Amino acid sequence: MIKLKKVSEMNERIVLENAQFLNGHNADITIEKGFITEISAPFTSKGDRKDCTGHFISSGWIDMHAHAFSKLEPYGDHLDDIGIKQGVTTIVDAGSCGVDQISELLEEASDAKTNLLVFLNVSKMGLQRLDELSDLSWINRKEIFDVVNANDDQIVGLKARISKSVVKKNGLKPLILSRLLADDCALPLMVHIGSSPPSVKDVLTYLKKGDIVTHYLNGKNNQPFYENGKPMQELLNAINRGVLLDVGHGSASFSFEVAEQAKQNGIHFHTISTDIYRNNRLAGPVYSLANVMSKFLHIGYSLDEVIAGVTTNAANWLKRPELGRIQVGDRANLTLFKVEEGSFTLVDSEGVKRKASQMIKAKGVFINGEWYQC
Ligand SMILES: [Zn+2]
Repeated sequence: MIKLKKVSEMNERIVLENAQFLNGHNADITIEKGFITEISAPFTSKGDRKDCTGHFISSGWIDMHAHAFSKLEPYGDHLDDIGIKQGVTTIVDAGSCGVDQISELLEEASDAKTNLLVFLNVSKMGLQRLDELSDLSWINRKEIFDVVNANDDQIVGLKARISKSVVKKNGLKPLILSRLLADDCALPLMVHIGSSPPSVKDVLTYLKKGDIVTHYLNGKNNQPFYENGKPMQELLNAINRGVLLDVGHGSASFSFEVAEQAKQNGIHFHTISTDIYRNNRLAGPVYSLANVMSKFLHIGYSLDEVIAGVTTNAANWLKRPELGRIQVGDRANLTLFKVEEGSFTLVDSEGVKRKASQMIKAKGVFINGEWYQC
């Protein structure tokens, strides 16, 4: 059972007044002691009112691939800087830490306001080094079991980065070991794809239902699409087996061209995520989850589809459907946002720029009994 933070004991009655749901209806949402107690017609509820006119409301955004361990360089950041300050109520750290540092990460997160769940890196090194799977002795089966058992309320899967720069001469061996470990721990595997060898075709054959491929829209040579944009048969087979596709934008893993071709060929994201850390938050091209979401709006996905990529789809994968809905009796877990009209420049990981006419902007979140303005 996944653990969330304790709800603050504040006893005020807060009303998010006249917020717009994605279905077009507006409503007042009343929250007491951190729980939704009423959803009623606009301007009918009493309490400490926050005017949400002109804003959309969704369940709190979930970022399925981010890096939330502040002391890591370069792939680290502060949990709340990439969480509540950007409209994200739940961050899933994607393998920043292995068994050596996971307790430090969880300790650090306990002081933050944003919820944290984690993929445990199969290498005990985690991202302390960037070739963390170049030495197989860094995958310690017993230590992984112990850590997973001790933290099963926050560890949601195992993470393995399977690209040449990470595995070096080990090829597929780290993936084969990861597959066995994930099965023995009864956890899904998130696999990062990138430079070859090993080839993405081979990598995909090891994945099964519930596993996640992250960086599937990367513009590198070893992507799961042919040059004409058609998906490889191995990718189609993986999708048919129930393997999920995660964006994991990052500094080097999102190409507008690949994303547009994938969409044209009917290959859609399951979750939209950032692969955010300090540098790509401050200097781009990631900046924020809202910025990444705006790119999918720009290439023609509907607002409903984009929001599902950071709410219901992720919540269902986490087997926590309540994290992806707004319902009386549920703990209030909400993101308030706007879709602003204008002229905006979006840039992908290849440096390609696009002019967009709409931009999603996070405006506030309600999480664990408290309201935060973004
Ligand atoms: Zn990452």
